[in-house]
Amino acid sequence: MSLPRLPSVYLSEEHEALRKSAASFVDREIRPHADAWEAAGEFSRELYRKAAEAGFLGIRYDERWGGSGLDFLFTCVLCEELVKGDSVGTAVGLLAQSEFALSALADEANDELKQTWLAPAIRGERIGAIGVSEPGAGSDVASITTRATRDGDDYVISGSKTYITNGTRADFITLAVRTGGPGPHGISLVVFPTDTPGFHVGRRLDKLGARASDTGELFFDDCRIPVSNLVGEEGRGMHYILSHFGGERLVIAAFAVGIMERLIELGIDHAHERRAFGSALIGFQTWRHRFAEMATQLEATRALCYQAAHLLSERDPGAEIAVSMAKLHAAAAVQSVAAEVLQLHGGSGQIEESPVPRYYRDVAGFSIGAGTSEIMREIISRQLIREKENR
Ligand SMILES: Cc1cc2nc3c(=O)[nH]c(=O)nc-3n(C[C@H](O)[C@H](O)[C@H](O)COP(=O)(O)OP(=O)(O)OC[C@H]3O[C@@H](n4cnc5c(N)ncnc54)[C@H](O)[C@@H]3O)c2cc1C
Repeated sequence: MSLPRLPSVYLSEEHEALRKSAASFVDREIRPHADAWEAAGEFSRELYRKAAEAGFLGIRYDERWGGSGLDFLFTCVLCEELVKGDSVGTAVGLLAQSEFALSALADEANDELKQTWLAPAIRGERIGAIGVSEPGAGSDVASITTRATRDGDDYVISGSKTYITNGTRADFITLAVRTGGPGPHGISLVVFPTDTPGFHVGRRLDKLGARASDTGELFFDDCRIPVSNLVGEEGRGMHYILSHFGGERLVIAAFAVGIMERLIELGIDHAHERRAFGSALIGFQTWRHRFAEMATQLEATRALCYQAAHLLSERDPGAEIAVSMAKLHAAAAVQSVAAEVLQLHGGSGQIEESPVPRYYRDVAGFSIGAGTSEIMREIISRQLIREKENR
């Protein structure tokens, strides 16, 4: 069954056209391969090219570089649909490129870097990753230690990164490095080509969920790249990272919306088919009411997402708190819906033949990746306290 959706003032016919095209892409190009890709621990490289042909890798970027020049609401709609292919990892891998790795390049890099890295990535010819987290620095981005030392016209880079999505097969990494002293002002962003001598990929990390996206450890041993690979200005890296976290967090929240929709649909189908004590499960009021609660969680999350997407697109100062609220709420809501639908499936929910247990595992990381729920609460509460102090 297809779940009825509340109308939204934020969506136009163009958004619905993208939804239709993304849904048909998922039916054709993702769901039929989901089991194989989950088992292999990566999806086909060819999918980047196909997603590019469908216009999915450059939604928000300038047409000059092959993008479509659209806003964050289109990104939300795309994410909601891509994640319904029963392979959250595949959607994560695509968006880790199109949103996480490319957004700072699109906004801050010079034309030469855009021509060399952004445009081919939008065409699906190159795979990108974002490299911020390190073994000793995750939430506390300002304490990263991977160092880029200036030597003539080069930076010499040494250090390591971990948990990097697309990391084992990326052609380039939008890399956070320390070019100055300790703290946030000593951080810069560079484009790091992965064929640079001294670079190597460590372990491919075996994850709880999102298994079709590869996640790697990366090592940099005196890697020499030209200073011209600097994104924007030296020492502004932390600012660029923080200002682009909004898009990453919105992507995760929009994934949660799509997953809730898919899970509730699967759940309602199952509740009609499965019988116990002479009745279909849907005949029990407890399940009908739980579906009502799940649908309410879904629509509340969607409303927060669209509002955050609108504010982000408008570059409104309220966007940071709106995105943090959307991601905080989305992670909790999708984890609760996944647990309910798993429970509804009884024993069959424990068996890997259904997508339900996979989604249950996939959403566990939604309160971690792109900023944990504790960090979201920190951002929201800081703003509340600031508001009170200003009164
Ligand atoms: C599947 C996956 C893919 C990822 N992909 C990427 C990627 O592509 N690129 C990249 O750079 N990173 C990536 N990450 C890393 C991710 O961003 C970090 O895991 C996340 O930011 C948390 O950092 P941490 O794991 O070091 O946890 P920590 O920062 O060590 O946190 C541990 C716990 O302490 C809590 N905590 C930390 N600080 C505070 C505080 N001030 N107050 C209260 N509690 C606090 C956290 O909320 C968490 O619960 C990925 C992670 C995963 C799991």
